[in-house]
Amino acid sequence: MSRKWVYDFTEGDGKNKKLLGGKGANLCEMTQIDLNVPPGFVITTEACLAYLDDPERRLPEGVMDQVHANLAAVEKKTGRTFGGREKPLLVSVRSGSAISMPGMMDTILNLGLNSQTLLGLINGTGNNRFGYDAYRRFIQLFGKVALGVPEEKFDAEFEAVKLKAGVKHDVDLSTSDLTDICDRFLKVVQLFTHKPFPTDPYEQLEIAIKAVFNSWMGKRAIDYRREFKITPEQANGTAVNVVAMVFGNMGNDSATGVGFTRDPGTGENVMFGEYLVNAQGEDVVAGIRTPKAVAAMAQELPKQFNELMELRRKLEAHYKEVQDFEYTIEKGILYCLQTRNGKMNATALVRTSVEMVKTGLIDKRQALLRINPEMLNQLLFPRLDPKNTSKPVAKGLPASPGAATGIAVFDADRAEKLGRTGERVILVREETKPEDIHGFFASQGILTSRGGKTSHAAVVARGMGKPCVSGAEGITVDIHLKVARVGDTEFCEGDLITIDGTTGLVYLGEVPMIEAEFSPELETILSWADEVARLQVMANADTPEDSERALKYGAMGIGLCRTERMFNGVERLPIMVEMIIAETKEDRIAALGKLLPIQREDFKQIFEVMAPRPVTIRLLDPPIHEFLPTERQLVDEIKELQNLRETIRGMRVLTDAAQFMNLPEIKSKIQGFTDPELVDTVIAKKETMLKKVRALHEVNPMLGHRGVRLGLTFPEIYEMQIRAVLEATAECLKAGIEVHPEIMVPQVCTAQELKRVKEWVLEIHKSVEEAYGLALKFKFGSMLEVVRACMRADNLAEEAEFFSFGTNDLTQATFSFSREDAENKFLPMYNLSNILQDNPFEVLDVKGVGRLMEQAVKWGRQVRADMKVGICGEHGGHPASIIFCHKIGLSYVSCSGPRVPIARLAAAHAALLEKI
Ligand code: ADP
Ligand code: MG
Ligand code: MG
Repeated sequence: MSRKWVYDFTEGDGKNKKLLGGKGANLCEMTQIDLNVPPGFVITTEACLAYLDDPERRLPEGVMDQVHANLAAVEKKTGRTFGGREKPLLVSVRSGSAISMPGMMDTILNLGLNSQTLLGLINGTGNNRFGYDAYRRFIQLFGKVALGVPEEKFDAEFEAVKLKAGVKHDVDLSTSDLTDICDRFLKVVQLFTHKPFPTDPYEQLEIAIKAVFNSWMGKRAIDYRREFKITPEQANGTAVNVVAMVFGNMGNDSATGVGFTRDPGTGENVMFGEYLVNAQGEDVVAGIRTPKAVAAMAQELPKQFNELMELRRKLEAHYKEVQDFEYTIEKGILYCLQTRNGKMNATALVRTSVEMVKTGLIDKRQALLRINPEMLNQLLFPRLDPKNTSKPVAKGLPASPGAATGIAVFDADRAEKLGRTGERVILVREETKPEDIHGFFASQGILTSRGGKTSHAAVVARGMGKPCVSGAEGITVDIHLKVARVGDTEFCEGDLITIDGTTGLVYLGEVPMIEAEFSPELETILSWADEVARLQVMANADTPEDSERALKYGAMGIGLCRTERMFNGVERLPIMVEMIIAETKEDRIAALGKLLPIQREDFKQIFEVMAPRPVTIRLLDPPIHEFLPTERQLVDEIKELQNLRETIRGMRVLTDAAQFMNLPEIKSKIQGFTDPELVDTVIAKKETMLKKVRALHEVNPMLGHRGVRLGLTFPEIYEMQIRAVLEATAECLKAGIEVHPEIMVPQVCTAQELKRVKEWVLEIHKSVEEAYGLALKFKFGSMLEVVRACMRADNLAEEAEFFSFGTNDLTQATFSFSREDAENKFLPMYNLSNILQDNPFEVLDVKGVGRLMEQAVKWGRQVRADMKVGICGEHGGHPASIIFCHKIGLSYVSCSGPRVPIARLAAAHAALLEKI
């Protein structure tokens, strides 16, 4: 006996989508729970794979025999005969793989028709027109889909007949017009395939089955699978569903429709959908006639409407999920033709989750698991009104989600100035640099014409939760003329533009927007998530404003506060620069003395906002040259200043001449020009800076003088920061505010480094306690972002009370890839040719970096069993990485504020999935 290739709807396993495809499995399941599904059967995906494996493309042994046997059963149930002259059985042939895939074959309806069975159909219904209409649809669909006849060939004939008959709409065609069309269509097929149209229904069926199988390897389907990363584990091969036809086009007691059991846009608990009376299959979607909203059926077909409501209830009760389904009413009888889980937007998902728990349809666990954490992104940012009709003028990369409108401004200083006055600003640059950061703070969004999703602009904007479109190459930015060109239009400084960081689109003018929605339902879902999650979710926040926002998103603390971000403000940067270019230790200490109160105040404010939650403060990390202008910039500026000096000398000659020739009006005009000595002073300053920049030059700054290495070279910097943290703590305590500060050292590779810094901490701690007369608690810990630090985690644990994985640097170090270079040069190629599956800077590399983390956690906890361990890289906000962090026993993840809700839900998923 051959293998079982075919399953009747009454016997197929509704859970086995891999074998039967999604459509087939659900047709089986619906049949078995007694919903009214027309009889039919499924040919398995295994048959598809076996067929595609055969170089001669023959159906595997036994398939057609089993099809015959199953058709016989369908004949019996319907009382019709396949190929019969009387009461002919017609079927539809439908594709369907485990994952719904629009790239695959179209459905063929009315299969089994030929000139003989057509007469049978007409006799049975007494409806000539209906018969020929069904026939012409079949010839066309079969010709196009199964025989590959180009659609235009049919369309041309169709139009010719319409023209001849003088009618505009299909419905106005007479029976004889339709007969004519059938004849012409048959000729089209003959002409194109050099064979007559197949008349034997079994032959038709076999050709159709093979065509469905072949469509799995069609270009459209392959492209679709690649685009959406559908692996063979998810879906392998397509099934074929053969279903007895039911007709929605048999008169005014017949109809066809599609619908959702709830509104997929809002989640409201009402049936949503459209139907058409006296129509078949695709008519509703094809837009030939305008369908009616389902509510209208209550009047038009009240009995069937009630049945439809009952069907809706049964579907949800069984699937415990909103269903997207298709139905047809034939002469008053309602049939269900398909169902699948409804795709909804995040608003609807969240609302239905909460409401389905309230009515007991699902439990909280199911409610949480049915929402993909990443989808919450939709809710957390303002977005463009979906009803907007404005046309985008350019497209870049969706670098940081959310939409924003503002006036275009081409430099950071202007952006800051205008932002201060309350103006909404979009910062437009070719690309951004760390020194533009103050412009970010002042802007609603950032637009760059260069750079990828990991460019400076993108990373910083994401961190701040501001919309960003990067790499909009269609736009040419001229920052000197303050104008940007897009095609043949342009916008200048002050012109309103709108960017959508969720899609990457750029618009001129203002586009209407929908605000972010932190609905009560979302709050409910997230509170359920917190109940089950084991991982805590912290936020990366650098300023009091960031912290406030993070708190709103439900952050349980600050996992990473980058102190250097505080130095970029306009009043602060000059002091920082003063500190850096100081020639002596005394000068440096003097500059640091000015920074101390500023940092202390920042920390105090952050502590106040976050109290009583923990705040982890990282000591200075980046190489300090990042605070200085570039060498190029300085050289250019000095050159220009020198020119100015020459000019001013010339002016002097002019003044003297005016004096000598007694031309007072010239003299008065020239007055007010700068003294060349002043220019000399500025040049001297710039030259000192240039010397410093040259001295600080590093071949590879990422691996250079930064982090704790820098801290140990210039102890006074870290000492100032430590003091600022502890004094802020003391002042908060005095004010009755509970504070849990954690001091974290970056770039550590050996316990010796930690030991030294810890000595300073203890010393300063003592002096602050004495000065304030208070006992201060704090934690001291280390970043793990250097491979050696992971390997020596047990030693580090002697000094550190907590660890935090900086997975961006750790990924760079583990792969020996510099991120910028990798992403701009070879990583896309690596991904495309499957050398690496993902971008490890976006998806945590569980196999390599993850393994290192797992070991480090183990070794660390061998020495300090209650060691708090977290992650603060961008990965800390990505659901798959969060699940891994849960598995290896991390205590918390830390991510940018707007990703906190996503991380909370992902942390819940991690805990729930572990129990399965
Ligand atoms: P898709 O995957 O594109 O939805 P379907 O296989 O569901 O394709 O079929 C396309 C259309 O044909 C749908 O409207 C469906 O309801 C209709 N249809 C499919 N099979 C039958 C049938 N046996 N009787 C009546 N209509 C059918
Ligand atoms: Mg369908
Ligand atoms: Mg780092």
